[in-house]
Amino acid sequence: MTKILDGKALSTSIMKKLKSAVAQQKRLITLAVVQVGDDPASTVYIRNKHKACEAVGIRSLHIHLDGEITSGSLLDTIHTLNSRKDVDGILVQLPLPYGIDEGEVIRAIDPAKDVDGFHPVNVGRMMLADDCLLPCTPAGIIELLKSNGIEINGKECVVVGRSNIVGKPVAQLLLQEHGTVTQCHSRTRNLAEVCRRADILVVAVGIAHLINADFVKPGAVVIDVGIHRTSDNKLCGDVDFDSVKDKVSAITPVPGGVGPMTIAMLMQNCVKAGHRGS
Ligand code: NDP
Repeated sequence: MTKILDGKALSTSIMKKLKSAVAQQKRLITLAVVQVGDDPASTVYIRNKHKACEAVGIRSLHIHLDGEITSGSLLDTIHTLNSRKDVDGILVQLPLPYGIDEGEVIRAIDPAKDVDGFHPVNVGRMMLADDCLLPCTPAGIIELLKSNGIEINGKECVVVGRSNIVGKPVAQLLLQEHGTVTQCHSRTRNLAEVCRRADILVVAVGIAHLINADFVKPGAVVIDVGIHRTSDNKLCGDVDFDSVKDKVSAITPVPGGVGPMTIAMLMQNCVKAGHRGS
């Protein structure tokens, strides 16, 4: 019987615990979300983040800047947020408009307020397994595996994708949990063959239904990070869920798997940043 790894239920229970932790805080925790321009997907993601803040009892500020803003003005906004004592977390919604250097913007955020966990200081600390603000999607994946009693220690873990926000950090966290990790990307030869080695297969490629039953070993655990809207307006992942589900021991659904965990980990980072600030 395949176990469906319910990220929504776990996220709800984490957020409930965070809500009581926040209620015990003497001061209000504040997240500042910076949006540049009017990308519709970003607007939806930001709305969801604000809703999550509301659910946990965190104050959220939406700093909505014109899409034509210069890098200099955006950096000034970040420096101001860095110096504000009432702001605990800063998140710049990506992608930024063409012409703005995302790396420069991320590096401008105070690492102690970098609730996305993208600043090089946090990335470096993560590599060293030091205390830091972890990137939300990778941290959520590890939490989902652990909460479902899925052992990582000694397991063959294959990560498909090597982005800075998902692929690379999740591979690093799996390694820290003592998995034997293989990282795949667009140049990987015989992808299906490599994926079939996996006890735990994490897929973050951004191609709908790339992974089907030919890519999975019977009994594997499959984590699908991808999120896509189909022509009939439904959501699907990088994994062909219907093709794979009867062959694996556990799998995340899309929606309701990794996505809600990402939000829960963002809230967790805000609370952590808030504790440091108090
Ligand atoms: P990126 O586009 O930054 O990275 C995609 C990675 O996949 C790259 O490393 C690329 O390789 C690799 N890749 C592309 N094509 C292939 C292929 N045919 N075979 C093997 N590897 C391939 O994507 P992200 O990591 O940012 O996101 C991946 C997916 O996850 C997207 O659908 C995104 O929307 C979703 N996502 C979901 C989140 C959630 O909370 N649920 C959070 C973040 C992302 P190369 O490096 O060689 O180009």
